[in-house]
Amino acid sequence: MLQVIEPATEGTLAELEQAGVEETDAAVARAKAAFPAWRRVSPPDRAALLRGLADALEDRLEDLALLEARNAGKPISDARGEIGMVVETFRFYAGAPERLLGDTIPVAGGIDMTFREPLGVVGLIVPWNFPLVIAGWKLGPALAAGNTVVLKPAELTPLTAVEFERIAVKAGIPEGVVNVVVGPGRVCGQRLVEHPDVAKVAFTGSTEVGRGIAQAAAQTIKRVTLELGGKSANIVFADADLERAAAAAPSAVFGNAGQDCCARSRILVERSAMDRFMEALEEAVEAIRVGDPLDEATQMGPLISAGQRDSVASFVGEGAPVAIQGSAPEGPGYWFPPTVLAPVSNTDRAAREEIFGPVACVIPFAGEAEAVALANDTIYGLSGSVWTRDGAKALRVARAVDTGVLSINSNTSVRVSTPFGGFKQSGVGRELGPHALEHYTEVKNVYYATGEV
Ligand code: NDP
Repeated sequence: MLQVIEPATEGTLAELEQAGVEETDAAVARAKAAFPAWRRVSPPDRAALLRGLADALEDRLEDLALLEARNAGKPISDARGEIGMVVETFRFYAGAPERLLGDTIPVAGGIDMTFREPLGVVGLIVPWNFPLVIAGWKLGPALAAGNTVVLKPAELTPLTAVEFERIAVKAGIPEGVVNVVVGPGRVCGQRLVEHPDVAKVAFTGSTEVGRGIAQAAAQTIKRVTLELGGKSANIVFADADLERAAAAAPSAVFGNAGQDCCARSRILVERSAMDRFMEALEEAVEAIRVGDPLDEATQMGPLISAGQRDSVASFVGEGAPVAIQGSAPEGPGYWFPPTVLAPVSNTDRAAREEIFGPVACVIPFAGEAEAVALANDTIYGLSGSVWTRDGAKALRVARAVDTGVLSINSNTSVRVSTPFGGFKQSGVGRELGPHALEHYTEVKNVYYATGEV
């Protein structure tokens, strides 16, 4: 049996049967059997079913949010926002079945046209940091395009995925279209990657596992999209609104207790503004309310596991330049206080590796060229921010930084209607927006000879 732990209490939240290879194969077989009928559902009917699913999820928003908050240890207000985004994602992709447009292409002797065909069975492997919301980013476009899916949640946080399958069936999504398998990644996840009947794997998680998935997928030339790690830069120029930039910086790295691939964990500050920025940052960090995820006032919860806490603590050992540290509860729960290291060199381990916890590095720079060079000096390229009142400089820097998602005078990364994904070792492909649909369809080209000469 799989014991699901509540990170804020270390108590057992649920016990579930654990799937293995046999159960994964059975789920793939169900998805394969359901595919022909699901792809034939007419576009308006498929759209209506997805709208119905969005409504059904919205009806359950409060209890899904509570389940997510308890299982992932995230503040209840964040969990509500995430389940709200799942609802919004299905509403957005409910518009897709009737908008999967093709082209007609002028050719000799006939008519040439393209279609966007579904891939078949798609395997979705998702992590524990944003369990249902990341699943939703994959489920929405996959189902809208006419694919059937096998979803493997992280073993640490499977509860909302299990609930999602029930809600989908109740909302009228035919049996077999959505299948959830709860089991270890190296068993069930790996089986999905190797399975000859799985046409594509969409994965979010560590770069290390992503690399293995890309390798294994090569055996069957499986389509793969990967959303991996990050070490994003939050670039603050001296001509920025420093108070706003400093007030916004903590939530951009301590949100979800730093367990966020978009975390702006390298705060690059122009040297001449360091003192003013650090002063304002200290005030903001010390004000963060860390505690019980179910308390409406909580802004940061515990880490997901004891292992994750040990891994995060390894970056704040003896001799670490701790400049600011907030507070965290004592007693049971995987707590870690929000911590700012400063000044840090971009070559230090804390600036190179994804910490995936509430630890930020402040790295000073001098001038635009150095800011861009430091921001790009990483194997990752997921997100980032630029803070300045100089509009032309903001755009120059935004274009020069090699990341998939960048915000100016803001730290937001993700919107349902806009593409999200990484450059370099942060991944392959894009989720959300209209772009995600490209990764859940194949382009088919059809030529019809009309007898003209
Ligand atoms: P993983 O990459 O191991 O887990 C992500 C998902 O992949 C989980 O569902 C996991 O299953 C599954 N998985 C694990 N191994 C395999 C495999 N061999 N084949 C197929 N699927 C597999 O992340 P961790 O949970 O180990 O986290 C470690 C680090 O990864 C974090 O500290 C962080 O740096 C990074 N990370 C990044 C995320 C992001 O959003 N980009 C999300 C999560 C982690 P299961 O856990 O059930 O075994």
